[in-house]
Amino acid sequence: MVQDEINEIIQLQRCGYGYKKIAQITGLPVNGVKTYCRRHPLAQGKAADATVCKRCGKVVTQNPHRKQKLFCSDSCRMAWWNAHPGRVKRKAYYTFTCASCGRAFESYGNPNRKFCSRACYYQYRAKEAR
Ligand SMILES: [Zn+2]
Ligand SMILES: [Zn+2]
Repeated sequence: MVQDEINEIIQLQRCGYGYKKIAQITGLPVNGVKTYCRRHPLAQGKAADATVCKRCGKVVTQNPHRKQKLFCSDSCRMAWWNAHPGRVKRKAYYTFTCASCGRAFESYGNPNRKFCSRACYYQYRAKEAR
């Protein structure tokens, strides 16, 4: 069974369907659904933990020890971020060593910095000029 099918079973379980009905709707073998439902009984009152995929609306199964997932699959995640490019947080942090004082510093969005501060820049220029 693939994750998509499992998600579908869970969703139908939440809707109160029995395994026979779920098998009918999903087209999966009854025995497979039955086995799955037995091994993964729908915990009562757990519905609040469920998230629906931001893109396709499918129920996303959460791993309680992991960061909450917002999408049912990688393809949904990619498709959603592609459709909302402005909301992608770009990690444009670059780490440099200041050419003047030798300290390590981070620059956001500019890969061409040489100095940690303006002061260092002027200091360096002043040294060079001598
Ligand atoms: Zn999805
Ligand atoms: Zn510096």
